Amino acid sequence: MDFRPVPVLHVALPVPLPRDFDYLPPAGALPGPDWVGCRVRVPFGRGDGEQVGVVVGVGESGADPASLKPVLARLDAQPLLQGELLESLRWTAGYYHAPLGEVLATALPGLLRAGQPVPDTRRAGWRATPAGRDAAAAPGRKGRPRELLQLLCEQDLAEDELDTRLPGWRPAARSLAERGLAGPTTLEPAAAPLARSEAPTLTPAQAEAVAALRGSSGFQPVLLEGVTGSGKTEVYLQAIADCLAAGRQALVLVPEIGLTPQALGRFRARLGVPVAAFHSGLSDGERARAWVDLAEGRAGVLVGTRSAVFCPMARPGLLVVDEEHDGSYKQQDGVRYHARDLALVRASKLGIPVILGSATPSLESLHNALSGRYLHLRLGQRAGGASPPRVRVLDVRKRPLADGLSGELLDAVAACLARGEQALVFKNRRGYAPVLICHDCGWSAHCRRCDAAMTVHAGGRRLICHHCGARATPPDACPDCASLALQPQGAGTERLEKALAARFPGATLVRVDRETTRRRDALGQHLASLGDGPGILVGTQILAKGHDLPRLTLVAVVGVDEGLFSADFRAGEKLAQLLIQVAGRAGRSTLPGEVVLQTHHPDHPLLGTLLHGGYPAVAALALAEREAAGFPPYAYLALLRAEAGTEAAVQAFLQEAHAAFPAREGVRANAPMPAPMARRAGRARGQLLLDASQRPPLHAALREWLPLLRAMRSARKVRWSLDVDPTDL
Ligand code: ADP
Ligand code: ZN
Ligand code: ZN
Repeated sequence: MDFRPVPVLHVALPVPLPRDFDYLPPAGALPGPDWVGCRVRVPFGRGDGEQVGVVVGVGESGADPASLKPVLARLDAQPLLQGELLESLRWTAGYYHAPLGEVLATALPGLLRAGQPVPDTRRAGWRATPAGRDAAAAPGRKGRPRELLQLLCEQDLAEDELDTRLPGWRPAARSLAERGLAGPTTLEPAAAPLARSEAPTLTPAQAEAVAALRGSSGFQPVLLEGVTGSGKTEVYLQAIADCLAAGRQALVLVPEIGLTPQALGRFRARLGVPVAAFHSGLSDGERARAWVDLAEGRAGVLVGTRSAVFCPMARPGLLVVDEEHDGSYKQQDGVRYHARDLALVRASKLGIPVILGSATPSLESLHNALSGRYLHLRLGQRAGGASPPRVRVLDVRKRPLADGLSGELLDAVAACLARGEQALVFKNRRGYAPVLICHDCGWSAHCRRCDAAMTVHAGGRRLICHHCGARATPPDACPDCASLALQPQGAGTERLEKALAARFPGATLVRVDRETTRRRDALGQHLASLGDGPGILVGTQILAKGHDLPRLTLVAVVGVDEGLFSADFRAGEKLAQLLIQVAGRAGRSTLPGEVVLQTHHPDHPLLGTLLHGGYPAVAALALAEREAAGFPPYAYLALLRAEAGTEAAVQAFLQEAHAAFPAREGVRANAPMPAPMARRAGRARGQLLLDASQRPPLHAALREWLPLLRAMRSARKVRWSLDVDPTDL
């Protein structure tokens, strides 16, 4: 039967179905283009289920009108998502093959996603009327109302300001309002403090970079490659100041653990405009307000982590991605987007420059810069007179290690403390020891639900699986041979802390890892507790970036060996980046820095290349290897992952998916394989890698393939997901 077409709203909902849903407008309303980008509350699913979605189009439906339901409520009078941002989000859905509704939900701060009203971030205040100004100029009775009127004639004042300037002002305000001399108003947020910190005189390299940025216009990707401490942040600040002076806003992305109060303070003190922050340490309300402040033009700058890349800008001028190589820019569940790549997409649609900064650029960005697609700016020297740290490799083969520490490393720490300076002892492993083994038969404590060893914690009294969180008490005797010779093998940060405390009882000792920094702001407090005196920081990669500790002169890296022999093709790049970033903490101020690397593999080619040629040499070598092997950035990857209660279910799905993959010239579907961790939290895991020499045929194949996957019977027995440009294989 045919029905007369009726006008409908196309609504994107946060559900895992790759389509929009049609709803009738509410009674009496007409679906016009002004609905697009507004949130609506709609009935969905069985019973009285509801969802909040975003209208992404208006049109007509020829379906049975009785099957169409009306939206329950329109939540926004003005579109929340529009223009370039909505276009970029559609691009995101297409590129990552994710439902638009899920992408939109990912892009909105939690409060708005949940259907809450857009917060009003302006402040309630009072202003004088023209009649009030006349009255204030004329002689009159002294008293509170007149005092208040005179204040308001100087400037509009927010209620909280009035609380401090004229306590008990409300009756006076009421009296003025009754006489028509003053009235309530809303104010823009307080201007940032005018007291700005001075910019240092730029080094020639910095000045050159700033000049090059000034000379560019329109969409321009820039790779700012500068050694640690070379003053990249100073270059961002200048570029942002230029952007603000032109009346525009800047959006700055930083890695998850790089956004310290220290870093934010530096932006605020320098720029003299409201700087909004957007990260996971804030409440839902604070995040929504930051989002709105940027969207409505009240904040000049927003500094935020990964998901801040989706913030709308009222007057877009500049995007900055600091530490662009950082792994935290890649979302690892839900919509698996890469914030750096989305920053490039947005900048191109907005027609504005985007600066990618790093001491250790990702090979993808480096490749783009070397091939001329990005402007490549380099800062080769440390700013402010600091010199690069001296690096020493400690060969610990056949040397005794006490709790993982060699005598030479301890000597270096002792000498550093004796000079009254600070040392960082780095080990990318938290806990007491990575594994508990039986010295007699080789048994080791494994997680029952994962293919992984349990980490020893609490000085040996507890076992914890870092992959599923399972906890256990260590056995008294070996379950296999009953021997009592169970020993924690290797050292994590907890053990190093203990050993260093015993060896240097007088020194201030601070451990920084995920365990000690669970609380918000704990990292800043930890670093502050180190103070200015001699001391030791022990920690994981949380310490690798973003912190300026002027008294820190020694970085001791304990054990890089785990990273030297990994199957992941990115392992070398990641290890080199980590080492350079950690080493970059040493001697950032006027005191010279030293780095000691303790290893059982002093002859490993990666270490040699890093030592003699630095990161550029490692990167050049890695790029050549990738080109020869056909890996990114010379090839394009997508990864289908699946997990289920049984290995058979995973296998069945991946086999069927493999067989169904549409043949395309230059696109290869590799055989299904177990995941690097084939069992995790009791679930079997597998994956199927797709690689291609060109992007378009890969994406065309994926578009054809995904509907087939969704229709497979075997897909119902697994949880599966597609990862475009995976960073963890
Ligand atoms: P990066 O971001 O490259 O690690 P920063 O911008 O944080 O480097 O600069 C490192 C240190 O050098 C900071 O303490 C900074 O204040 C200082 N610095 C940067 N540029 C200059 C300059 N032109 N003159 C003096 N000191 C500078
Ligand atoms: Zn045993
Ligand atoms: Zn586990």
